[in-house]
Parts: sequence; structure tokens; C-alpha cells
Amino acid sequence: MKNKITRRNFINGTLMATGALILPFGCRNGTVLEALDPLFYPPALTGLRGSHPGSNTHAHSRAWNKKSDWGSTTKLMEEYDLIVVGGGISGLSAAYFFQQEHGKNKKVLILDNHDDFGGHAKRNEHTIDGQFRLGHGGSQSIEEAKDISEVVHALFKDLGIELERFNTAYDKDFYKRNNLGAVTYFNKDTFGEDKVVRHPYCNHPNYIEGIIMGEKLSNEDAAQQAPLSAKGKEQLLRVLNGGLHTIDVPKAELEDYIRSHSYFDYLKNNLGVDDPGVLRMARHSALDWGSTGADIMSIETAKTCGAMGFAPKTIYHEDDPNIYHFPDGNASVARALVKKMIPDVAEGNGAEELVLAKFKYAQLDKSSNAVRIRLNSTVVNVQHGGDPQDSRDVFVDYINDNKSYQVKGKNVVMACYNMMIPHIVQGLPKAQEAALRLQSKCPLIYTTVGLRNWKAIKEMEIGMAMSPGNMHQSLFMDYPVSIGGYEYTKTPKDPCVIQMVSCPYGETIGAPAIEQYREARHKMLSLQFKDYEDEIRAHLSGMLPKELFDFDRDVESITVNRWAHGYTVSGGGDSVKKGRQPFGRITIANCDSGPSASMKVAIDMASRAVKELA
Ligand SMILES: Cc1cc2nc3c(=O)[nH]c(=O)nc-3n(C[C@H](O)[C@H](O)[C@H](O)COP(=O)(O)OP(=O)(O)OC[C@H]3O[C@@H](n4cnc5c(N)ncnc54)[C@H](O)[C@@H]3O)c2cc1C
Repeated sequence: MKNKITRRNFINGTLMATGALILPFGCRNGTVLEALDPLFYPPALTGLRGSHPGSNTHAHSRAWNKKSDWGSTTKLMEEYDLIVVGGGISGLSAAYFFQQEHGKNKKVLILDNHDDFGGHAKRNEHTIDGQFRLGHGGSQSIEEAKDISEVVHALFKDLGIELERFNTAYDKDFYKRNNLGAVTYFNKDTFGEDKVVRHPYCNHPNYIEGIIMGEKLSNEDAAQQAPLSAKGKEQLLRVLNGGLHTIDVPKAELEDYIRSHSYFDYLKNNLGVDDPGVLRMARHSALDWGSTGADIMSIETAKTCGAMGFAPKTIYHEDDPNIYHFPDGNASVARALVKKMIPDVAEGNGAEELVLAKFKYAQLDKSSNAVRIRLNSTVVNVQHGGDPQDSRDVFVDYINDNKSYQVKGKNVVMACYNMMIPHIVQGLPKAQEAALRLQSKCPLIYTTVGLRNWKAIKEMEIGMAMSPGNMHQSLFMDYPVSIGGYEYTKTPKDPCVIQMVSCPYGETIGAPAIEQYREARHKMLSLQFKDYEDEIRAHLSGMLPKELFDFDRDVESITVNRWAHGYTVSGGGDSVKKGRQPFGRITIANCDSGPSASMKVAIDMASRAVKELA
């Protein structure tokens, strides 16, 4: 298995390097893509993806070391009506809206530091025993799809996204038919034995539409089966049977109380929990719902996020279930946008028809395109040609293949991470800079694993496993969606993709969120693929029965999508509005400017940013 992963990475890495080498020096356009081998195809790359190695290097040099000397800069003879910094859903939408507003002949350049477009909306392809399987490497579903703005609604219509299609495309009965539920895997290193208990001990898995929640075990049996000391089991039961009724506060004050008091204090003081195993289960039980571990949540947030001890509840409204998921997640939305703007990039029309389409990456940056997408290009400097208030030009410097290039635009939309903007845009008012710096993002890892079969998973009745002792604190059978000719795995004998989710927290329980993010980000980026592979090996081998699962035999491919800057975490107060103010010919998009870790918001913010351009 290891050899296969290494070989695939090697092949694709070689093609990329070749593309870079054959570029003539001082050429008119600095694109690697136009020179790329047509076989270059990032969605099929495995290994370390998401913020893949090298993608953040120049941005970090700029932000951390204030690097400004990038060697001689090639001034390209390219001029655009709009330059977009960031090729995520927001940047792609901004390009689309700009053309809608000003005409299809308007020239737009989209620059992104990654080797694929879509930003967090990342497509992961796996080929397992000759069968094709898809997974999502980040932005996964159109959440609360019926609650969308007119802008998003109109865009979905243009892109051929028909929400009703998911009523049948999402196989709601899949989990029940296969008896797959929410379980918890306790690993030997942390809990003394490898054990799967058929109970989630929290509400988290409930967001998977159709999954069997904890109905298989009573709270008493679930507490008894947890591999904890007698005292730990007794404390765990107290938490499971706990809830707001155990808080001795007059009813009228309860709301204020739970907003202002810590969940961990509630566990310790109200319920007398001090067992490290129970506290560990609690800390990891809300996973990514609140962008932090439950150790630093208020009782109110922990309850909303379904942390341990709060009764299972329906997360999504029953009229608006969590079924709006393409097999590659929201990457399908990104692909449909790209296809609209660069028609030659793929065969097929509309998101559904494009599910199986192989995109031709060499088409993205053709000089004949009105819209060009230039990948592997980190923007390091954005500056008006004169006084921002009456300048007609903006100069954008970016680094591609370690060389510095400059392009000129009449307008710029910054659709990148908002906290990066003060490091790039020259001359911003100090108050705006300070506001932008406050916008943060929490780190996340979404790993997709290609399995030859899911016989062992079926045997253990795992729809989703919470794994409080592991780096990936949960894993689940990918959403059961068949659409656009793509067929979800049919029987346990068939290949499938499982999704593993890691919300890396800091070592120090209770440390402030920003400190935990920083520590976790550094650790995430310092680990090698082998470290992740070892964790996945130990995780799956400890959880699944040896008679049915052998890691080297059954795991075909692993794609670790590291997002050092994942979900938007707002700076709070009026910092978001102050930060996103237009500045001369530059406006600000990205879901951070919403602020919300949401594709819908990313689109709405793109629309606003385009309207703000004079
Ligand atoms: C793991 C994960 C799961 C998620 N799941 C969901 C979900 O299910 N549903 C949902 O609605 N939302 C989800 N989100 C939120 C997600 O952020 C949005 O859905 C959406 O994809 C954000 O799009 P964006 O364009 O605003 O930002 P991004 O996708 O982050 O795009 C910004 C792009 O700008 C690039 N960039 C940054 N700096 C520079 C620079 N200096 N030069 C060039 N490029 C630069 C970035 O690398 C990135 O590619 C998820 C996010 C993560 C991380």
C-alpha cells in the first residue's frame, strides 16, 4: 500500500516539476499550467493534500518574516479588468458575478497558491481495484440548503444544481439497511484496551442523515461497557443522565448562567467528574461543531454542539435535512463555476453532469480565455498605481515556481483568508488592518481513505465511530450519494471511501483557542505523511476485527487534507465589517468577511465584493 501511494505522488510530482522546467525565462506569461503535461490532474493525487507541501511557504515567509525581496520581478504584459486573489468558492463566484455584471468579454485572472482550484472545496479521487470512488477533502455539503439568499439561489440555477435531486440521490435508508450506527472506538494506548461500544456518548454523529444513533444501548449499559475504572463508569453515567436540570439556578437565570459558565466547570463542579478518561471523551465530543474542543466551551455552546451529556437532538430541520452533498462535496460547485467560465475545461453541463468529468487543467490558464485560473501562485503584494482613491490600476505581485511576477488589474477582489490581507495589501488604513488581523481560522484535517471493501466496518456496525483517543477523532462511511452517473458503494464486498476527521487541539486543556490553534497548526504541518499513515494504520487495525481487516491488504489509498486555516473564526464585535471595507479599487470577499465557515456565505460575500467595485 505504501509503495502505491508513494508511486502515485512521485508520478504527479514529476509532471509538475517538468512543467515548471520547460518554461522559457522572461516569457510573456508566467504560468506553469500552460506548459503542463496534460496528464497533470490534482484531484487524483494522494498523500498530503489540502494545504499541500509548499502551498503555504511564500505566504508564511511574507506573514512571519515580512519577506519583501523576491528577486527580480517579471512584469507580465497582461492586463485584467479584474484580478481575484484566492480561487476558492468565493473567488470563483466573484469572477463569475463580475462577468455577469460587466460582460462576458471582461478579462479576469484568478490567482491561487494551491495546485488545484476550489480552496476548501477539494475533490479527492480514489481508484480502488479499478473502481472509481470520490470523497471530499474539505467543504462537504450545502448546509441548510433551503435557507439560501437570492444570490445563491440564482447561482445554483445557473450551475444546474437542483436541490430536489438529492431527495433520491442521497440514500437515506443506507445506514438502517446495513445496520450501521454511531459507535465509539476506545484505543488501547489511551484507554487500556481496544474496544468498540455501540454508543456515541454524544450527539455529534447525528448530522449524518439516516445514521442509527445510540438507540442500541441504554445509558447504563453504555457506561458499563466503556473501558474506564468503576469510578469512571459511574461518572460517565452521571454525565449521560445529566443536563440542564442538574443546574441549581432559578429558571429565569438559567439562560444567562449557561452562557457565562464553562462546560468543563459544569462537569467538574456540578457533576463531580475528575476521571481523565471521561474528561477526554467530553473534550473531544463536540469535534468541529464549535471550532474548539469542549474544554473551552460555555455550557450553552457545548449543548448546541451536542457535546457529551446533552440529549441527542435533530441538528437539521426535518424539512431541510443534511442530504445536499455531491460525491466530492462542494468541489462540484467549484467545478461547475469553472466550467461556466472556461467552457473547454471539461465535457458536460451543470454540476450533476460534471460529477464524473475529468477536467483538463491545461485549459485553465490559456491566453485565449476571458477568465484565467493560475494555480501555484501565491500573491505577496497588492498595490494601487497611485493614490487609492483615484488610481486606475492595481499591481499584483505573485510567486510561481519561486519566481516573482507582476500583473496589472483595473480592480482586485481579495477572496483569500482575510487575516492574510494586511500582509499583502499596501497602504490599508491602520484600523482596517487591525480588524483584519483579528479574523482567524481553526485547523482541521479531513482524510479520505480508499478501502478495498467494508466487510469489517459492516461487521462492527459502524456508520460513524467517535474515537476520543485518536488523532482522527471520528470516521464515517462517506455519504451515500449516487448522482450524475456516479454510483455509491453497493455491498460490503465493494470498494468504498471512508472519511476521517481530525480537529487538532493544543496539549494544554483549557488554553485559549488562538493558542491551541497555533500549536495545533504547527504540529499538523510538521508531521510527515508517514506519521499520518501510522496513525490511520493503528486506528483502523485497533478498531476492526483482525479476521476481516488487514491494513496492508485492504487500504488502497490515503489522502490527508490538512487545513492549517480551516473554519472561519470571527474576530468578533464589528471587526468583520471594519475589515471588509472597500479600499480604493480593492474589495474583500471570502467567507471570513461574512463571517461564517459556509459556502453560502462565501458566495454572498463574493456578490457584495463585486457590487462594491466602483
Ligand atoms: C474541512 C472543512 C470542511 C468544511 N465543510 C463545510 C460544509 O460542509 N459546508 C459549508 O458550507 N462550508 C464548509 N466549510 C467552510 C468553507 O470554508 C466554505 O464552504 C468555502 O469553501 C469557503 O470558500 P472561500 O472561497 O471563502 O475560502 P477558501 O476555500 O479558503 O478559498 C480561499 C483561497 O484563497 C487562497 N489564498 C490564501 N492566501 C492566498 C494568497 N496570498 N495568494 C493566493 N491565494 C491565496 C487559499 O489558499 C484558498 O485556496 C468547510 C471548511 C473546511 C476547512
